[in-house]
Amino acid sequence: MTGLVIVGHGTRSAAGVDQFAGLVERVRRRGDVGDVEGGFIELSRPPLTDAVGALVARGHRALVALPLVLTAAGHGKGDIPAAMTREQERHPGLTYRYGRPLGPHPLLHDALEERIDAALADAAPAGADRAGSTLAGADRAGSALAGADRAGTWVALIGRGSTDPDANAEVAKVARLLWEGRGYAGVEPGFVSLASPSVPEVLERLRRLGARRIVVAPYFLFAGVLPDRIVAQSAEFATAHPDLDVRVAEVIGDCDALADLVRERYAEALGGDIRMNCDTCAYRVLMPGFADKVGRPQRPHDHPDDPVGHHHHHGHDHGHAHDHGSVAVVGGGPGPDDLITVRGKALLDAADVVVVDRLAPQGLLAGLRPDVLVVDAAKVPRGPSMAQEAINAALVSHARAGRRVVRLKGGDPYVFGRGHEEVQACAAAGVPVTVVPGVSSAFAAPALAGVPVTHRGVAHDVTVVSGHLPPGHPDSLVDWAALARARGTVVLLMAVDTIAKIASMLIEHGRAPETPVLAVQDAGQADQRSVPARLDEIGAVAAREDIRPPAVFVLGPVVALPTTGPTV
Ligand code: SAH
Repeated sequence: MTGLVIVGHGTRSAAGVDQFAGLVERVRRRGDVGDVEGGFIELSRPPLTDAVGALVARGHRALVALPLVLTAAGHGKGDIPAAMTREQERHPGLTYRYGRPLGPHPLLHDALEERIDAALADAAPAGADRAGSTLAGADRAGSALAGADRAGTWVALIGRGSTDPDANAEVAKVARLLWEGRGYAGVEPGFVSLASPSVPEVLERLRRLGARRIVVAPYFLFAGVLPDRIVAQSAEFATAHPDLDVRVAEVIGDCDALADLVRERYAEALGGDIRMNCDTCAYRVLMPGFADKVGRPQRPHDHPDDPVGHHHHHGHDHGHAHDHGSVAVVGGGPGPDDLITVRGKALLDAADVVVVDRLAPQGLLAGLRPDVLVVDAAKVPRGPSMAQEAINAALVSHARAGRRVVRLKGGDPYVFGRGHEEVQACAAAGVPVTVVPGVSSAFAAPALAGVPVTHRGVAHDVTVVSGHLPPGHPDSLVDWAALARARGTVVLLMAVDTIAKIASMLIEHGRAPETPVLAVQDAGQADQRSVPARLDEIGAVAAREDIRPPAVFVLGPVVALPTTGPTV
């Protein structure tokens, strides 16, 4: 039978660890899921690596890994799979099927209902400060309330809270499912961390709705720091409102219902029947305010309890931000929003700062989160010929401040884009830097105008040339005579001012005067236009037709090829 590893996040609460261990033992005792171990990815013992190691030592090479989480947020979607990947690196050949999160599930709703009833039945004295007790108004509490007065009871269902809206929405869904048909006055969702409404906010909301008796029900599996905080915040609210009867229910805890659910998720994983809720997953779908998550890679999360990898300690409920600044030099393509690469777009969506060129796809800036700092590189303050140094300095300083910087450039960063100077500057400053290639206008502009830069039997070479210096300029590095002798395609960038001189030079050294040339201006934009001419006329034609940058000139026999059908 396939082994099962139950994976918990870990907690500083000894009671929480005991409950987890109790559940693992309960599942094991039942004997209906084969070999089972439990482990934590951080904070508590045993670590996941021991649990997996024990199963591997007993001969298992294929496992079911079940994340013991109620909703699929960062732990379920990212951290636990990353920890399992690390186990696979340790045990080559190990495979696993990943179970889905536990909730929402009727078994959990029934368990919550039981905990709420128990809180209603509790007649503990006022001021008691443990979960499951009456926090205030004990004079009106009594066992007679158990289940009998749901119509007068409001429930605040408190989830962990997440930066993932889908996970928060699950808590709202559970609140609704818990209310349906159970006769409570109402069930309102709230969150103890990272999302709103907070515990005090949801309690205040219920008070204003006229609630006199409120049961705060933690939507938590086990005891921990956050459930304790729910108790403390509820007690504070109760003290401030002595006229209200505020009680806190127990967490779901180690129980048969949970063991039943573990068995169900295990069977589901084995059967390949995992119905993840992907339709509203922030990693797949753009949701307002969460554009930075789309396509974001899930990186292994370093854990202090794990002997592998570097250790940096962090708090339990901190949102898992790992704020090391970095720079990505991203090629944005020739101009249209959708000619950037998928990788470039994902980095752009995750950026805190975007340093943008004039020729980079400006339309993409409209989709950035409102809090993203957009730096127009053309306007970076500078002295004479200081532009590049100022840009490099801006990249380095933003990254050093811990920000994710995207340097968004037109076309490909390494095709006349000075991209490598920026990469060198970052590397020299010790800032992590990466390059994302882009669709260069050198090839895209001809293509968008219907010209292939190579074609079988017509051109076997293509040369991309900068025309920013005219032939004969002392700084020019171009061998114009060689280009004139060659037979293939030449693409000229930054040549609007120099095209006449370049054309004369090429003819002088042997290119046929009738060689076809196409000027392509604003390729990919709504106002793209192309102007054809012979090589000996292109200078005059470009001037007469008022060709302006950005434009490329493509010349050679490929320009004369017929196009069949539309190219748009
Ligand atoms: N790194 C860029 C090129 C930068 S040099 C790339 O790979 O595309 C700038 C030159 O690129 C312009 O002078 C022009 O020749 C060309 N260019 C950039 N965008 C263009 C566009 N949309 N249409 C035509 N030419 C373009």
